[in-house]
Amino acid sequence: MVEQQIRSRGIELESVLRAMAEVPRERFVPRRYRSDAYEDVALPIGGGQTITQPYLVAWMTVLLRPHPHDRVLEVGTGSGYQAAVLARLVDEVFTIERVDELAERARDTLADVGVDNVAVRSGDGSLGWAGVAPFDGILVTAGALTIPEPLLEQLSVGGRLVMPLGTQSAPQTLVRVTRTSERRYRREEFGQVRFVPLIGEEGADEAPSRGD
Ligand code: SAM
Repeated sequence: MVEQQIRSRGIELESVLRAMAEVPRERFVPRRYRSDAYEDVALPIGGGQTITQPYLVAWMTVLLRPHPHDRVLEVGTGSGYQAAVLARLVDEVFTIERVDELAERARDTLADVGVDNVAVRSGDGSLGWAGVAPFDGILVTAGALTIPEPLLEQLSVGGRLVMPLGTQSAPQTLVRVTRTSERRYRREEFGQVRFVPLIGEEGADEAPSRGD
């Protein structure tokens, strides 16, 4: 998967490629999809949600520019796979999932595969996780029209936030925002993606539609 679907499409950061090679994706998908676990596709994980396609996991991880001593927040735990990849690259990962059943299952899966530096919480990640902020990186794996203000506030100076922005009716734009000083943020865009909506107080309130 790593050589044929990720490196060949231009992802060159060895630390990310190694992390993806080391995390057993088949453990994060329902049993009936295990034979497809190393295809470059999103797969259903229950609750109308999906595990993101591996190439996008790699790309978003590269854009986050993870450093070994970073503390990273992920919004949208889903299966826990992205959190497990991040956990191989940084000291501490905090991840929030709004669907209780998914959060519980992700916690169990992460423990089963021996990941011990990820804290999983069930709740509304559009509000961030104020009690453990600030974060050097914030990765949002669901799309919204705008970046939730609490997430910008919980980013440390020098920190990076990566998330899809846009409506559900068209592809979203993958955006990276870097906090360059207490009051300044630099925004960069990296092409089109399609993710399920971020549902919550600072996100959407509609029912989820199809996407990664
Ligand atoms: N990162 C996941 C993985 O590795 O499997 C895939 C995430 S899936 C594409 C998006 C997830 O975001 C869904 O599980 C959905 O329930 C969750 N989500 C949507 N809105 C949320 C919110 N406000 N807070 C936390 N999770 C949210």
